Amino acid sequence: MNDIEISQATKLEPIEKIAAKVGLTPDQIEPYGHTKAKIDLPLAESRPQGKLVLVTSINPTPAGEGKSTVVVGLGDAMNRLGHQTVLALREPSLGPVMGLKGGATGGGYAQVVPMEDINLHFTGDMHALTEAHDTLAALIDNHIQQGNALNLDPRQIVWKRVLDINDRALRQTVIGLGGRTSGVPRQDGFDITVASELMAVLCLSEDLTDLKRRVNRILIGYNYDREPVTVGDLKVGGAITLLLKDAIKPNLVQTLEHNPAIIHGGPFANIAHGCNSVLATQTALQLGDYTVTEAGFGADLGGEKFMDIKTPVLGKTPDAVVIVATIRALKYNGGVKRADLEQENVAALQQGSANLKRHIASMQQYGVPVVVAINRFTSDTDAEVAALTADVAALNVPVATTTVWADGGAGAADLAEKVVAATKQPSHFTRLTPEHTDLVTQMTAITQKIYGGAKVELSTKAQRQLKTFAKYGWDKLPVCMAKTQYSLTDDAHALGAPTDFTIHVREFAPRLGAGFVVAMTGNVLTMPGLPKHPAALDMDIDADGKITGLF
Ligand code: ADP
Repeated sequence: MNDIEISQATKLEPIEKIAAKVGLTPDQIEPYGHTKAKIDLPLAESRPQGKLVLVTSINPTPAGEGKSTVVVGLGDAMNRLGHQTVLALREPSLGPVMGLKGGATGGGYAQVVPMEDINLHFTGDMHALTEAHDTLAALIDNHIQQGNALNLDPRQIVWKRVLDINDRALRQTVIGLGGRTSGVPRQDGFDITVASELMAVLCLSEDLTDLKRRVNRILIGYNYDREPVTVGDLKVGGAITLLLKDAIKPNLVQTLEHNPAIIHGGPFANIAHGCNSVLATQTALQLGDYTVTEAGFGADLGGEKFMDIKTPVLGKTPDAVVIVATIRALKYNGGVKRADLEQENVAALQQGSANLKRHIASMQQYGVPVVVAINRFTSDTDAEVAALTADVAALNVPVATTTVWADGGAGAADLAEKVVAATKQPSHFTRLTPEHTDLVTQMTAITQKIYGGAKVELSTKAQRQLKTFAKYGWDKLPVCMAKTQYSLTDDAHALGAPTDFTIHVREFAPRLGAGFVVAMTGNVLTMPGLPKHPAALDMDIDADGKITGLF
């Protein structure tokens, strides 16, 4: 059976029953239908925090490496062992669902459900974010049309528009055509919603008050005197926050094994900070003895950003980090073509495992115990599994093979035991760079210590921007690297574990509400395109509502 068939064949429990498992009473949740609910925060009673497990991965192939699948299976396995475990995951974006990679709800017998709802419109958070973002865009253009009291320079508006689908035709647009009554013509463009600063703001906010404070700080552009103009100056922070009043509440669903999962916020890790909301993780930490969470793409992207951007706001560092590896992605990193990934090739696997070793070393630098999870595919041979296991064990790193995709929680008993043991090890979290380090020093540290490269090089535009940032004190904000997910370098084709390379910074985007500066490297895009054969071509729904093709 495929993912959607398994999901639809499972009888879900009423969401009140899932809530009760973690001590949430019916008046602490707001049901959206029978199997989804929002959690009302703050929780009335303060509860002690449980242990935090962060799941990250090696550099993936374009199909994804089963990180979400392992998160779900690991959570179910820990619950089977009697450890009260709550998941904290990201919300899927329609871009990958309709495009290439599929949803973000796991797969096989390790899924969060109802997957068709979570992957499509869920509880409307993505829509609320899109509307809030575009309301601000409309208010900016209206301000210019109605006399432009703030003296905004239409050539220097940095707030674009968003849509939660890959639409390359909208990357660059011209708006305001049509004469006096149709606005002031200017260049504009669209990003995907998950790259919106509002998504990052929602994911980093502690409550509604903090959300509004952050929204008001957002930079929308510059005036004709080249001074920054913010949402606060436009006096619409209240309206934008209002549009997010429900989106800020974490969503509760269940796994196929009826364990609680909180799914909230979904920035991409290649063009944004890649972590689910702080509120969701905090809630999970209070509801369970263990929280298993994930950060997007590899440890070079989501992993690094979890450590350097999310943990300072969360106020809690991981007690263990799990790095998911697949044999096929390591062979891909070892130079095997995608069409040949199902053939046994121990030599290529061993060469490609340099990629895994790089990620292990980079996560260990944070002083947190690391465990490796091999997500087994049916095409993996015993010789390959044995070779990889031996390679990892030689580093003195616990390693477990999981078959959660085929077996659900039963397929991760060994991994669960190793992860629980790792959380009991001493953890001495150390930051990569101290707070208030300048952007270039931060980027150099990330390039050298996480990516394994040599240096960063800034374009003339980026250098000019740094001078402006220094004037306004933005040059020491945390950096959020925007980089391809396929390589440790900024070139998607440089696989394995390259050394001695340069990261090229094209430009910076100040995200003052989120509290970081995005560094755009290589040719990474904030509005992806759809592939030649988008997943949408294989999807359908019949007269009875039966869905096909949704993975
Ligand atoms: P990631 O979180 O790394 O992007 P996902 O967990 O979303 O990856 O999985 C990507 C796809 O791969 C899903 O469709 C899932 O069903 C499939 N998948 C994951 N693990 C396995 C496995 N061990 N065998 C077969 N398919 C798998």
